[in-house]
Amino acid sequence: MKPPLFEYLRPSSLEEAITARAANDYTAVLAGGQSLIPTMNFRIANPTVLIDISRIESLKKYSIEENEVIIGAMVRQRDIELSNSIFVVNPLIRETLEHVAHVPIRSRGTVAGSLAHADAAAELPALLLATGGSVVAKNISGSRVIEANSLFQFHMTTTLSHDEIITEVRIPSLKPGSGWAFKEFTRRHGDYAIAGIAVIINMSSEGLCEDISLAACGIAARALRLETSEEILRGTNLDNGLIKEAAMSATEYVTAADDTHASTQFRKHVLMTLLQRAIATAKSRTSKV
Ligand SMILES: Cc1cc2nc3c(=O)[nH]c(=O)nc-3n(C[C@H](O)[C@H](O)[C@H](O)COP(=O)(O)OP(=O)(O)OC[C@H]3O[C@@H](n4cnc5c(N)ncnc54)[C@H](O)[C@@H]3O)c2cc1C
Repeated sequence: MKPPLFEYLRPSSLEEAITARAANDYTAVLAGGQSLIPTMNFRIANPTVLIDISRIESLKKYSIEENEVIIGAMVRQRDIELSNSIFVVNPLIRETLEHVAHVPIRSRGTVAGSLAHADAAAELPALLLATGGSVVAKNISGSRVIEANSLFQFHMTTTLSHDEIITEVRIPSLKPGSGWAFKEFTRRHGDYAIAGIAVIINMSSEGLCEDISLAACGIAARALRLETSEEILRGTNLDNGLIKEAAMSATEYVTAADDTHASTQFRKHVLMTLLQRAIATAKSRTSKV
């Protein structure tokens, strides 16, 4: 199918883009186009004005600040995946990105675009939740920081307002000694996750779990933090019995209905298995500091 008619704008500054967003009722920001163009072709999205932000130089940079990685809205997923300096401060970012689609898609798609698109099975929302990251959104009235736990509402729905543009994504660096893992199950390599899980663990010098962060995708109408499972494990020595208990408890978060990819019951089983494997991998990567 072909999209309905739309007006196409290609501003060269953020100010122009924001003004265009405010001046029109139904605009869409075009970043890498890897999700927007298919949704327009299927007529799920029917914007009357497309604002292509790919010429805005200020959105094409990323940097590593004291405690976080700051990724401009036009930085491609592949550039972040390949950045060794980012890998050093937060290796979970690369491990997660390696599960997103295929190299040609990651070479066009942006990190911000994936978060704005907010597919319930996409990996990057789980990454943002697990790391406690945020996005900066701007409109003509100013800018605001939206924390990961208040960004995702529903499948393909965020709390961004219709006139806002994400300008940057902020992902905290991992604390020294952190263990991390991203695991997912898909029917074919590069597909969206039937279930996916991001884990960050910090162990104390006494061998107790000081902190743990668990976030999942593919299991509900949006990516979720698995807080009940985190509670079971925090402060413990992460023995196998407790990990199993936490994995069983995580199945309560699985609300995705049976579909052509998997039944609800199967997703629960997959999540339980992935969670145990991801925690084992993350734990093995922790180190004393
Ligand atoms: C065959 C295929 C397989 C894929 N598999 C996966 C997968 O396994 N996992 C996965 O996570 N993704 C997958 N994707 C999607 C891919 O990761 C996209 O690149 C990503 O979701 C969107 O990034 P984009 O830059 O292309 O955004 P676009 O497609 O340009 O935009 C996506 C949406 O976000 C909005 N948007 C974009 N940037 C901004 C901004 N700065 N501010 C406000 N709104 C904005 C757009 O208006 C649009 O609504 C797949 C895509 C394809 C084509």
